[in-house]
This record gives sequence, structure tokens and C-alpha cells, in this order.
Amino acid sequence: MSLNDIEAVPVNFTDPSREGAGCHAGKDVLLDAAKAAGKSDILDKYAQTYPAGPHDQPQSMCPAFGSLRVGLRMERTATILSGSACCVYGLTFTSHFYGARRTVGYVPFDSETLVTGKLFEDIREATYKLADPDKYDTIIITNLCVPTASGVPLDLLPDQINGVRIIGIDVPGFGVPTHAEAKDVLAGAMLKYARTEVEQGPVSAPANRRKDLPAITILGELFPADPMSLGMLLEPLDLACGTVVPTRQWRELYSALDGAAVAAIHPFYSASVCEFQKAGRTIVGSAPVGSDGTADWLDSIGEACGIASSKIAAAKNQFLPMIKETLTSAPIDARLIISGYEGSELLVARLAVESGAHVHYVGTACPATPWSASDAQWLENKGVVVKFRASLEDDLAALNEYKPDLAIGTTPLVQEAKSRAIPALYFTNLISARPLMGVIGAGSIAQVINAALKNRDRFAQMKEFFDGVGEGDTAGIWEQKPVARPEFSAQYAKKLAKQADQRKSTATQ
Ligand code: SF4
Repeated sequence: MSLNDIEAVPVNFTDPSREGAGCHAGKDVLLDAAKAAGKSDILDKYAQTYPAGPHDQPQSMCPAFGSLRVGLRMERTATILSGSACCVYGLTFTSHFYGARRTVGYVPFDSETLVTGKLFEDIREATYKLADPDKYDTIIITNLCVPTASGVPLDLLPDQINGVRIIGIDVPGFGVPTHAEAKDVLAGAMLKYARTEVEQGPVSAPANRRKDLPAITILGELFPADPMSLGMLLEPLDLACGTVVPTRQWRELYSALDGAAVAAIHPFYSASVCEFQKAGRTIVGSAPVGSDGTADWLDSIGEACGIASSKIAAAKNQFLPMIKETLTSAPIDARLIISGYEGSELLVARLAVESGAHVHYVGTACPATPWSASDAQWLENKGVVVKFRASLEDDLAALNEYKPDLAIGTTPLVQEAKSRAIPALYFTNLISARPLMGVIGAGSIAQVINAALKNRDRFAQMKEFFDGVGEGDTAGIWEQKPVARPEFSAQYAKKLAKQADQRKSTATQ
């Protein structure tokens, strides 16, 4: 097929009824546009792989940040974004904030290049220019919301140029619910590509491949010490900790596919799991967190790899007393609620419960999958309310209901808790950036939680100090004391509701 054969099916973004389409058009408008533009297959696949719930729209960062980060962490990999300039600015800013140290390529567009299909030609040209095998193994091109909604056909790019692999993915906010699952979109696409290469003939082995013991592939971005802890736990079973997916090098994808079994430590990598299953690998859910979690995980891994029960028992005898001792020496005596969008929320809750904490609620933006089922069951047996696809509203309701001593969660939950003088910790920065597995992980979250609990009095003093200072629409710097005008607020709310109704009826016409 030549470029001339590609029929552009544009969205009329200049249609006044869709003014502001793109970032502000709303999920339904973009979804309809994308389907009309030929993206039904991929969107249906996403809907099946990442089933939506109440939390079916990003309430946090743009989901594409997940896949962008996975690509930027890979060596000899170039990344190109295709999307609105404001989206690309935000994504580039965030990736450099998190220390990407790689260039993010961008193919800009305007209404004309979008409508005429020239954007695809521009992407194709940019990809050809970039495909230097001396510099890159892979080029990843990502369609953000608007190019996906306009049907920019990345699947028509060549599979490789000059030996450089070309991978095009659609990561729209209206099709991929969380940034966690966007990581899986790219990891799954790369595993699929690598699996096809393996099926076609011999591939190069990664330099750091372990040959002495069968290795367990690890699915999920872990704290750097966690793979070492996993290796210690696996050694008595005559197994090793293998490749961690998402990988840092292309060749590692081959060793990942070659693992003795796959430990889905983060349970949301559904597309990646599908690729491993196609490669004939057994998937093991949950993780070795705390004493119960470690015992169950060693049993499951042992069973998946056909290890003798005496060896599994010996490993448990070696590690479980140490883990129990560490948990007892660092107790948490507090009532907690926990929420986040990293996918490890249930594991953190298990560890907190085994450390003595009374965890009332754990919410995760990720969906329920077979690989988190045993964690959810264990927590529910301990009386913890587990909410998958939790929204901010669910988290705030839990804050109201349980009035915890400490809230662990996302930025808006933490802000709300602190405004009520409840100590709070950011899940992403302070909790998920700590070791959780095995003996090393046992006492690690207790340290940070207990330190935060000591701030309770300080929070109470601050609340008392700031009491009476404006809140909500009376917050900020005023020359005179602000006067509340509820009648104006009501009038403005009516005006906004009327405008929303008008937009809705125009969109359905
Ligand atoms: S690409 Fe990301 S930032 Fe841009 S509109 Fe979509 S979800 Fe929002």
C-alpha cells in the first residue's frame, strides 16, 4: 500500500459545535471520532484488556506518561510523540522532572495536516530520518488523544527501517484508563514484537543473562533493592530472579519471554501477560510481602516451576521467622486508609496489616485482575474494604467514613487530609519508592508511616493557627476581608449547567 492509498478520515475540529475538541471535547466526542476514523479495533481491544469502572477517565496525570516513561528508560530507543502541543509540553516536562535525560521527539500538526492526512506522512518522514541503526534498536511512536481520534494510522508504518524496529501505539486518555495500564500498552507491544522475532529464528542473548539457574521473569517496575530480595527468596528453590519487565534493553525482552515462569508483581500488565501466555509461560500473581504473602508466593512459584515441596518448606523455614521478627520489631499502631494508582496498593496494605496497622480501606485506580485476586481476598478476610478502579470520590468517602490516623494516597487525597489536620503521605513518592519484598521490605514502610504519625500534633497546631483564614472561594490575598456571596455562586452555577446542557445537546445532534 502506498501513502496515496491511505484514506484520511478526519475529525472536523473546526466545526463550531465541537469547539475546543481535542483536550476539552470530552470522552464521548473523542471516542466517537476515533471509531469513525477507523480505530474501533484498537479501542475495543483496550476496552476488553482494561475494563473500565467508575474510574474510566484519568483523574490523575495523562495516561500516556506511563508508556512514555517505559520507552524513555530503554537504552538505544527513540521516542516520538504525536499530539497537541499542550499535551506534549506537559508530558515532556513531567518526563524531565522525573530525570528522563533523553530527547522526546515531536511531530507537530495543525488542522490542515490533521485533516488532509499529511500528519501521517510527517510522522513517517520523521521516523525514516531517525532510523539510524548505529544509534537505535527501536523507535516508538505514540499517538495521543487527537491523532488517535483522527485515525492517524500508525499501524501502516513499516515494521522496521534499516534494521531499526518501529513500534506505533495509540495511547489516548479516552481509551487507556490509567498511566499504569499505558505502561502495559507499550510493554505488551514490545513483547509481541520480540515474541514474533523469536518465532522467526535465533535472536541475540542479552549480555547479563543468567545461565546457571532457571530464572523467574518479574513483571512490574520495582524499587531497585526488590529484585535482590526476590533473588534471595528464590535461591533455596534453585531459581534466580530474572529479567524485570518493562526492560531497559531490547534483548532483555527475549530473556523475559524465556523465563521459567512470570511473577506478575504488578497485576495490571494484562497485555504483557497475554504475550507471556502465548509464549507458554505460567503466570503467578501477588508478591512476597510480609509473612503470609511470602509463604503463599513461595508455594505458587514452587508449584509453577515443579519444585519439590521439601525445598519450598526449607525456604519458608529460612525466611518466614526473619520476616516475622522484623515486622514485630517495627510495629504500626494506627488506623490507615491507602489509595493510589501505581498498582502496588494492595501489597502495601498487606504489609501494613501484617505490621499491626488497622487498614480500613484500600483503593486502587487499577482494575481487578486474576493476579490481584488473592491479595484482595486476603485483605477482605482481614476486614479491609478493597476498591478497584477507585475514584477520588471513593477515597474521600473513605476519609470521611473512617477518619483515619493517617491517609496514604494521591495528591488530592493528601491535600484534603492535611487540610483536616490528618497526617498524610504521598503513595507515589514516599511509599512506592521503598522496598516491599522479602526480609528487607518487611520493616520499610513502618519507618516512614510512624514518622508521619508523629506529625499529628504539629498538624493540629497548624490548623489552630490558620483557623479563620479563608477557604475555597474566600482563599487567597484580598485587600478587604472577603464577603461570601452565595447568591452569585448559585447564579453562576446555573449558567455553567446551562452551558453544559447546550454542549451536550449539540454533541448529540
Ligand atoms: S493526550 Fe493526555 S493530556 Fe492530552 S488530552 Fe489526552 S489525556 Fe489529556
